[in-house]
Amino acid sequence: MSKTLFEKIIAREIPAAIVYEDDSVLAFRDIHPQAPTHILIVPKKLIPRLAEAKAEDRPLLGQLLLKAAEVADKVGLKKGGYRLVINNGANGGETVPHLHIHILGGRHMNWPPG
Ligand code: AMP
Repeated sequence: MSKTLFEKIIAREIPAAIVYEDDSVLAFRDIHPQAPTHILIVPKKLIPRLAEAKAEDRPLLGQLLLKAAEVADKVGLKKGGYRLVINNGANGGETVPHLHIHILGGRHMNWPPG
């Protein structure tokens, strides 16, 4: 099975501006930022999308959320606030089939989203 784009970034086969890494997650800057700060945080384990996550992934999903908050704090977004986004499937706007959370900040986010 061919690697996802994000597996290639995890394997350092594609360059990325990495802001955080540990044994289970990697965070790096989005190549097409939609806000002054736009970071993606991904599990190193390939879960294609949230809808494909299994009960056994519960600790990893918790870790991903907690690390998203840690990374947001690390890059200075805690005080002003930020938005986390998970796009799931075609109508959700998912383009890379490897679960990721968008961390967006540095400007006011509108609601409803487009
Ligand atoms: P999604 O549309 O939710 O699947 O998000 C995929 C995101 O990956 C988009 O925001 C893209 O801009 C971003 N992206 C695509 N290629 C790269 C890359 N090589 N490095 C960093 N981010 C990327």
